Amino acid sequence: MTSHRVPREWPTGLLEVAPGVYAYVSPTGDSGLSNAGLILGERSATVVDTLLAPSLTRPFAEAVRRATGLPVTRVINTHHHHDHTGGNWAFPEAERYASAAARDLLIRKGKPMEAYRALLPRFAAEFEAVEIFPPTVTFQGAWALYDGRREIRIIPAAPAHTFGDVMVHLPADGVLFAADVAFHYVTPLVSEGSVEGWVKACEAVLALDVEVIVPGHGPVGTRRDFELMRDYWLLIRDEGGRLLDGGLTPAEAARALPLGPYREWVAWPRTLWNLARWQAERQGPVPDLVSDDVALAMHTAMQKLSQWGALR
Ligand SMILES: [Zn+2]
Repeated sequence: MTSHRVPREWPTGLLEVAPGVYAYVSPTGDSGLSNAGLILGERSATVVDTLLAPSLTRPFAEAVRRATGLPVTRVINTHHHHDHTGGNWAFPEAERYASAAARDLLIRKGKPMEAYRALLPRFAAEFEAVEIFPPTVTFQGAWALYDGRREIRIIPAAPAHTFGDVMVHLPADGVLFAADVAFHYVTPLVSEGSVEGWVKACEAVLALDVEVIVPGHGPVGTRRDFELMRDYWLLIRDEGGRLLDGGLTPAEAARALPLGPYREWVAWPRTLWNLARWQAERQGPVPDLVSDDVALAMHTAMQKLSQWGALR
């Protein structure tokens, strides 16, 4: 068990993490509250992810305008989830880059409003009116863009959080926008990805020469913060796997797992869903999109777990 202190608050808003490179960090990191990024080039700017709902995207787009007079000509969507693609409308002049899988997943997913009303009650009504702008340029494998100032490497990481994940690496700046391959002090969720794949993606991240890791949820961090999340996945894989092998259901295993400080991470009951996915993954191929039925069943089970946890 990796002991550590869990921060409750962290710097938010547009934070310069290297010259001309910004993380846009949301408070709490809970469902729907994700991070984004801004990379300034010589004559144009690149945005990494666009947040979920207009009340989140508008202040981000405003912060981008205050930070630079450069036009945003590129949006990179790190994966298909709506808290990373829902604000694409705010950058209408930009080409939108994503992996081919992420574009396909975004289009196939549509807008599962019934599930969102349960899982994202705070933003569901607002999100319902959002028009989805799918990626306009897709790629497979590793890619690079050059903005006149620096190399922007796009590194495939799937399957980890989803089957379409990419990360954005700025080698000259030692910065990695890991997006939802990294959750810092917010419980990661693997509902549409792979536990085994995520552990591999963690090793790939730690093999990079990076000092600053911008996660999809939670504070900007270092390799140390990222390692804590990697250790969470090892706990799910190994200790969680043993509990499931012993015949426990994912709900029982979530109660029995010695989470230690991870019990203080935001949204710890996601551990139940992660264990359910891990159990499914060990039994055979897993679907690349979660059905509304599964999402709603998991929501109910996590609420029960949360109530159980509150009594202890
Ligand atoms: Zn996501």
